[in-house]
Order: sequence, then structure tokens, then C-alpha cells
Amino acid sequence: MRKRALVVGLGIAGMSAAIGLSRAGWTPVIVERAPERRTGGYFVGLFPEGRQAAVDLGIADHLHTRNPEQRAGGNSWSVDRRGRRRPALGFLDQPGEPAAVLRGDIEAALWQSITGDGTEDAVEVRFATTPVAITEGPAEVQVLLEKAGTGARYRESFDLVVGADGMRSSVRRIVFGPHEDYLTTWNAMICAFQLKEQVPSYEASDSIIIARAKRAVWVFGLADHAPTALLTYRTADIQEQFSGSRVQRLRSVFSGMDDPVVRHVLDSLEKAPDHLFDSVHQVRMPRWSTGRVVLVGDAAWCMNLYSGMGATSSLRGGAALGAALLEHPDDLAAALDAWEAGLRPFITKHQRTARLKQQMFVPSSRRAEALRSVLLGLVRRIRGHRPATEAGGQRAQALSGTSR
Ligand SMILES: Cc1cc2nc3c(=O)[nH]c(=O)nc-3n(C[C@H](O)[C@H](O)[C@H](O)COP(=O)(O)OP(=O)(O)OC[C@H]3O[C@@H](n4cnc5c(N)ncnc54)[C@H](O)[C@@H]3O)c2cc1C
Repeated sequence: MRKRALVVGLGIAGMSAAIGLSRAGWTPVIVERAPERRTGGYFVGLFPEGRQAAVDLGIADHLHTRNPEQRAGGNSWSVDRRGRRRPALGFLDQPGEPAAVLRGDIEAALWQSITGDGTEDAVEVRFATTPVAITEGPAEVQVLLEKAGTGARYRESFDLVVGADGMRSSVRRIVFGPHEDYLTTWNAMICAFQLKEQVPSYEASDSIIIARAKRAVWVFGLADHAPTALLTYRTADIQEQFSGSRVQRLRSVFSGMDDPVVRHVLDSLEKAPDHLFDSVHQVRMPRWSTGRVVLVGDAAWCMNLYSGMGATSSLRGGAALGAALLEHPDDLAAALDAWEAGLRPFITKHQRTARLKQQMFVPSSRRAEALRSVLLGLVRRIRGHRPATEAGGQRAQALSGTSR
């Protein structure tokens, strides 16, 4: 008999875990709160560990990457307080040469594997379904599931429950306790969305950075897609940010930054069909599993966007979970111990560096802003400019020729 696992959440972590479980000989069933699979999303930089996990999960060949060709002088620009634009180090210039994708690109590649290309290997996915109670027995875990719309409830037993339901995970709340016990507050907000058009006077795939004390605007250029935008700011009053109109709130936060880039981004936000607006947190847990329940991805360790490692770690976490279950087929506790022991150092390291990276995204003060500018200018001069062919070649190799 194949063991059955309930995977809660059809995001990167949930689908990665489901593929990992299938490969370990388990039968996963995914439940997703939304009525259908989401698409699109914001810019994501995928680092080597994430690209390796994509290979391990067998999805690398389906992963569409969108790195713009680098011109001499770079295609990332920073705009200073006088409105002057200068070549700058962008997100993609970080060590590890991240692959540029949209979150939806990763999810689409995973989805192709989940559906088994229409074969009988397809994973069962139930939309508009959420867990409302989880009860552990000695040999199984009983889950009370609810169907949205009808409100119909039914019980089902599984050998394992995988909570991959994001930063505000219901599985974590039901099994481990309230959000306040695990969400650390970063006194910062983000708004991410897709631009319909590039900022006028910039090349289509240019990236633009305006990082001021406590507020920043980033435009992430992509090779074959309109850029995505990120507005981020620091605030001491998170609750207040969720009251009233979001667009008005953002206009007021970014007022005084009278730059054509900021104007274009704010005007575009008003017309955007959807956007993500949220507070920034990190999830800190002393242990990611208990008995037959395990958390993966943002539900377990959300590092937040500043780390740039959320998607990477979700892929890696899911792939590693499958590998651990394969290695310990008859001992779930040993598998979960081995999985956490292997993954924890990587997560801890990137949770720590996220604070420093936050200063790169949105400096905390005028001093930090000036320091950031000097530091990045220096690094840029020391590194010089790497020829595009070299960088592109390495990425293509890492993805085993996966760019479509
Ligand atoms: C603006 C921004 C930029 C980012 N940039 C990067 C980057 O450059 N590099 C990087 O690696 N990462 C980045 N990240 C982080 C990355 O996107 C996330 O870490 C990753 O997508 C998390 O995946 P997940 O599957 O854990 O959670 P989620 O994406 O939150 O997915 C959770 C899923 O569970 C579902 N769900 C929720 N509750 C329930 C429930 N009760 N029942 C059933 N289903 C439920 C949700 O509908 C959703 O489908 C960024 C994040 C943001 C916001």
C-alpha cells in the first residue's frame, strides 16, 4: 500500500513537496484554498540551490527563465536624489547569478509535473478546499476538510500532513499555535505588481532602483515580459497601513519622491488588474514538524522577499523532503529529523542575511542610504563588468539548457 500525504497549498513549496513525495513512492493529495490555480506573479531571482532543486525534481526542462542580455555598462540603473541615472548593480548581479523568472514560471513548471502531462501519474488536486481540524492518532492523522462555497465538511485519514500554505499558514495555526508565536515583525511593507509598460525613456528590459531612506522603488526588467515593480517602505505602524485605499496610502508614502519613475509606477499601480500588498515578516520556528505534520516553505521559515531565497528554499525544501522519505521509507520520524537537520543551516544562514539585504532594498536612514550607495559603487568598480556571454553560459549550464 502506498502511503498517502495531504499537502495543503498549491504554491512552490506544496507542489515541490508533492513531486518529492511521489518520487519517494507516496501518494500526495493537494488541497488549495483558491478556486483555481493562480498564474503570473512578481519577479523572482532563482539561486543555484533552487536551480539544483528544479533539476532534482525533474522540472528544470520546463522552467522558463527571463534574464535580459547584459549590455556593456549594465542594464540596471539607479536614480539619485537629483534625478540622475547611473549604471548600477542590480538584483541579478548578486553572487550566484540568479535566474530571472516570474513566480508563475516556477509554478507552471511544477504544475506540468503535477498533472503528469495527462498520464495516470497526475497528482490529485482539490481546489476551494481547506483543512479546518487536524487530529493526530498513533498510526494516522485525521483531517477535517471544508469545501468553500457549499461549506460541506468531510473527514479523511492520511499518513502525513504537509503544511505548505504560506506565511499565514492555517496548518501551523491549527497544529503549532497562533501566528503571533511565530511571525516576527519587520516594520516594513511591500507592494508588488506587473507593469503594463516599461518606464518611458528606459529600454524594455532595464532594471531601475531608487533606494531612499525608508522607502524604495524597484523595477525588475525581464527579457520577454513587461517588468514587474516593487514598492517597499519602512513603518512603525503596520496595522494602520491596511486601513483606507492602498493606492492613496502608497501615493502618500512616496509623495515628495517627484521622479518620473516613481510617477509611472504609481500611475501603473492604479491601473494594474491585481497587486500584492502586505506587511513583511519572517517565520521563526524551533522545529518544523511534530508527529505526522510537517511545514514547508513560507509556512515553516518564510525568510521574506529581502532574502531573495523564498522560492529557492521552497523548491529545495520540497525536494529534500522527498529525498529524506525515500531514504527512510519505514521511519517517518527519522526522515523528518534527517530532513530538518540537512536543511536548517541553509535556512538559518539566509534568515540572518535577510536583515543586511533589507538595507540594500530599502535603507533604514539617510546614513544607510549613503553607505549603501558608496558600497555598491565600490563593489561595481572592483568587479568590473562581466561579459554577458560568460554569465549567460553558466546559467544555461546550471539549468541544463532549460531556457525556452
Ligand atoms: C514581492 C516578492 C518578491 C520575492 N522575490 C523572491 C526572489 O527574488 N527569490 C526568491 O527565492 N523568493 C522570492 N520571494 C519569496 C517567494 O515568492 C516565496 O517564498 C514563495 O513563493 C513561497 O512559496 P510557498 O509555496 O511557501 O507559499 P505561497 O506562495 O504563499 O503558497 C501558499 C499556497 O497555499 C494556499 N493556501 C493558503 N492557505 C490555505 C489553506 N488554509 N488551505 C489551502 N490552501 C491554502 C495559497 O492559496 C497558496 O496557493 C518573493 C516574495 C515576494 C512577496
